[in-house]
Amino acid sequence: MDTTFTDLGLSPQLLDGIHKLGFESPSPIQAQTIPAILSGKDIVGLSQTGSGKTAAFGLPALQAVDINQKEAQVLVLCPTRELAVQVCAEIHRLGSALKGLSAVPVYGGAPIDRQMRAMRKGAHVIVGTPGRVMDHLRRRSLKTDGIKMCILDEADRMLDMGFREDMEVILDQLPADRQTLFFSATMNKSVQGLIRAFSHEAVEISIERKALTVDTIAQEYYEVRNRSKIEVMCRLLDLETKPRGIVFCNTKQMVEDATEALAARGYLADRIHGDIAQNNRERVIKKFRDGSVELLVATDVAARGLDIDDVDVVFNYDLPYDPEDYVHRIGRTGRAGRSGKSITFVYGRDIYRLEAIERYTRQTIRRMRIPSLEEVEG
Ligand code: ADP
Ligand code: MG
Repeated sequence: MDTTFTDLGLSPQLLDGIHKLGFESPSPIQAQTIPAILSGKDIVGLSQTGSGKTAAFGLPALQAVDINQKEAQVLVLCPTRELAVQVCAEIHRLGSALKGLSAVPVYGGAPIDRQMRAMRKGAHVIVGTPGRVMDHLRRRSLKTDGIKMCILDEADRMLDMGFREDMEVILDQLPADRQTLFFSATMNKSVQGLIRAFSHEAVEISIERKALTVDTIAQEYYEVRNRSKIEVMCRLLDLETKPRGIVFCNTKQMVEDATEALAARGYLADRIHGDIAQNNRERVIKKFRDGSVELLVATDVAARGLDIDDVDVVFNYDLPYDPEDYVHRIGRTGRAGRSGKSITFVYGRDIYRLEAIERYTRQTIRRMRIPSLEEVEG
């Protein structure tokens, strides 16, 4: 028997929000974690990108909020600003039937005054990056007394990004009887360390690793020298009809170069990476969502966790060094059962890194032949 949202013990208002969002049934991670969280347990939720982890913690978190209590009750920590914005937006959507709910994203690079005002007015849910949350704790604009639940979203990534100390300082200041939830796409030693230090008998809920990459993604690779990458990418793009794609590069400079080269060839391309100002990045993402940008060129960090669906193709313009990054990258396509394609460029000795990715994902990446100019134009 398939679980339905009604089986999970959620309030009628939340079921209403879910219905408005058009979610038909809970994803596996949602079906398994929501009842456990509602029962008050600390949990560790592991599942692939795009599997619905935000609602898995967002729904029970909203259920824990007492709207009449005008104070911070739920704290969500996210690795990037984009993710904080996105998670907060999803929480708003999930809680659309909760009258008077206030959830604020807090992140660096945006004016702190407005965030402080929202918190002073008694925002119930705070979704922030560790650095900015620390700032608010220091300024005492964020009061922790009323916090019942703390969620570490993409805990693995936050650790990778060097937020360990900030996270520890923050967790130390929260009430000891709070509930702590860890969500991550992957598990490793440092995540385990954090869980041991800051949770109470956490229950680990892991959705099968075979779902790490979804089989609706056709994974292909081409042997391409660096100097031919742009040319080959353009040929492949021209074989499709107006594809929406994300182009991943390993460095900010490569993102700049690839974007410029694409734009010079008439493609609607724009970029996001760590050196681009926050408001600019948000503008680019908005354009990509509304279709005025068709190709989003990005670094791993800038694109991590962004909920951008119906991407037709993901280019690994540069082969990622970490197989986990590969999984996160191609997880931008083939979401929610739709088909998608990933195209990886690799050359020479780097083939061994591609093989490492195949071993990690337990899937084969198909070698493809570069189409000739005639094939593209003909
Ligand atoms: P993750 O955090 O695991 O990467 P997200 O929470 O960002 O995944 O969810 C990915 C997408 O799936 C979002 O657009 C979200 O609204 C959608 N989604 C989540 N749960 C469901 C569901 N039960 N049914 C349909 N779509 C869902
Ligand atoms: Mg997520």
